[in-house]
Amino acid sequence: MANLPLHIPNNFRNFSVMASSNGVPFSAPKSGGPMILELPLDKIRRPLMRTRANDPEKVKDLMESIRVIGLQEPIDVLEVDGVYYGFSGCHRYEAHQRLGLPTIRCKIRRGTKETLRHHLR
Ligand code: ADP
Repeated sequence: MANLPLHIPNNFRNFSVMASSNGVPFSAPKSGGPMILELPLDKIRRPLMRTRANDPEKVKDLMESIRVIGLQEPIDVLEVDGVYYGFSGCHRYEAHQRLGLPTIRCKIRRGTKETLRHHLR
């Protein structure tokens, strides 16, 4: 996969920014707006994973669909102080895990510790 010549903030530079597997171009980061990036699955913390079970049938269907047409809608990720948190997109995340995909396309929004606390409530 080709590296794209995107201007990205320092805290995103630890990851390689790759062209998406389904050929959909990345959106350019707007000031203050969300940013679309492929993140390694293991860089996304999922604090609520053990408390919310996924529907195995949904995961199976998504695996098949993602395998054939790729991820059509990125998962939402919150970034706080350079750490990434996922609270939704649980079925898509698990489908990627089970497919053995190393990265997932994410819509990343910056938040504060207060935003994080709100999500953890
Ligand atoms: P999740 O927990 O991942 O949000 P849901 O079953 O609630 O799971 O929703 C599945 C979401 O995955 C939908 O919003 C759908 O638009 C999105 N999606 C992204 N890529 C695909 C795909 N290839 N096939 C089916 N749905 C997809």
